[in-house]
Amino acid sequence: MDLAAPQLYHNPMRITFWGAARTVTGSCHLVETSGATLLLDCGMFQGHEEGRNREPFPFSAEEIDYLILTHAHLDHCGMIPRLVREGFKGRVISTPPTADIARLILLDAAHLQEEEAEREARKAVRRGEPPPAPLFDVGDALAAMDHFSLRVGYGEEVELGPGVKVKLHDAGHILGSAIVELSADGHTLVYTGDLGSWGRPIVQDPSLPPKGDLLISEGTYGDRPHRSFQESVDEFREALTTVLGRGGTVLIPSFALERTQEVLYVLYLLWKEHDLPCGTHIVLDSPLGSAITRAFARYPDWFDEEGQRLFSGEENPFRFPPLSVTRSVEESKRLNHAGGGYVIIAGSGMCTGGRILHHLRHRLWRKEDGVVFVGYQARGTLGRAIVDGAKRVRVLGEEVAVKADIWTINGFSAHADQEELAHWIAQAHAPRTFLVHGEDHALSALAQRLTRQGLRVDIPDVGEKVEI
Ligand SMILES: [Zn+2]
Repeated sequence: MDLAAPQLYHNPMRITFWGAARTVTGSCHLVETSGATLLLDCGMFQGHEEGRNREPFPFSAEEIDYLILTHAHLDHCGMIPRLVREGFKGRVISTPPTADIARLILLDAAHLQEEEAEREARKAVRRGEPPPAPLFDVGDALAAMDHFSLRVGYGEEVELGPGVKVKLHDAGHILGSAIVELSADGHTLVYTGDLGSWGRPIVQDPSLPPKGDLLISEGTYGDRPHRSFQESVDEFREALTTVLGRGGTVLIPSFALERTQEVLYVLYLLWKEHDLPCGTHIVLDSPLGSAITRAFARYPDWFDEEGQRLFSGEENPFRFPPLSVTRSVEESKRLNHAGGGYVIIAGSGMCTGGRILHHLRHRLWRKEDGVVFVGYQARGTLGRAIVDGAKRVRVLGEEVAVKADIWTINGFSAHADQEELAHWIAQAHAPRTFLVHGEDHALSALAQRLTRQGLRVDIPDVGEKVEI
């Protein structure tokens, strides 16, 4: 007699990697199950891959029932307006802070797209060609927000269809960021989104990995360690005191989301400890950064313990005496003529647009000034060229010599480093792991390390399909 348990038949869960495959931007993975068709993120390509944003979606937007958005960074949410324009009728699932912040990010991106389209249209008219349409406009971004109708907290289970369930866990990457645990057809898929680094301010540490049959993990810093956050604060202090001490001004190109709030938080602590030279002015010159900072202040319950304690007290790390916020373009321009003693925080973080460009044009050639990079600089961006040691760069159409001091502080990273990734992924015990969201060398280094630990690891190509 055969006593073996009867074989249960499960429909396969099919995953196709459409973005952030062997690259860091454009996160987008399609998941097909018998009960629902889902997307994990729908992000924009940035840097040298920007052109891919105009390619048609490799799937039908109309057939997507749910989009699970891990967090509000543009490379994870930036194509949602286009998805809606192309027929997406489903619902977006995210945490409440992610929905709130994504609104600001998408509206800002829509404005930038409209401005760029206007510039391109002028050029096209001169060439006698038809003007190009923006990738999406403000109307598309507002329409996209109507789909953000499923806001869930960490640990809450939501049923999406017959046998399809999702739960979000804290990814510790930026405020509201989530790890996805998606179950369907008897299988469980775990997707990190972007995984945070341990011991950073404001956000909690990443949650322990949920159990799954298949893990999709990011690997941005899969090939290197970070300095600890405290070491980075020390380095940051040194950069500031060196430049400010000799009468210079410090520029900080900063991502409007999370990094700006972290930098403000650290500047607040330095100011409190009397570590900044007397008379230092700190200026947040980023309309988007200011709006997101106000959004953060609406979610103090989502901060880590230290953040909750600080924000519940009399003082506010986002509002302290040497800090001012520019209200207009004129105020921003006046900073070009200010002398030394300023710390100017402006976007964009990789110097691909925004007010930082005006500041760089006015200060990059001044050897008493300094530029402190506190975030990842993707290939093909102006920020990467400066960090890589270019002696001359083009800024707003003008050639500028790089004479200012350049500092790169990588421990402010919102991403786990190699050690943290390897440890977290090993704890997941997933039978199969797929590495995405990293340049090839970073993913290969991480894959080698994980393989030595006995894990089965793959690095999928764009369009690669797997079934579980
Ligand atoms: Zn991110």
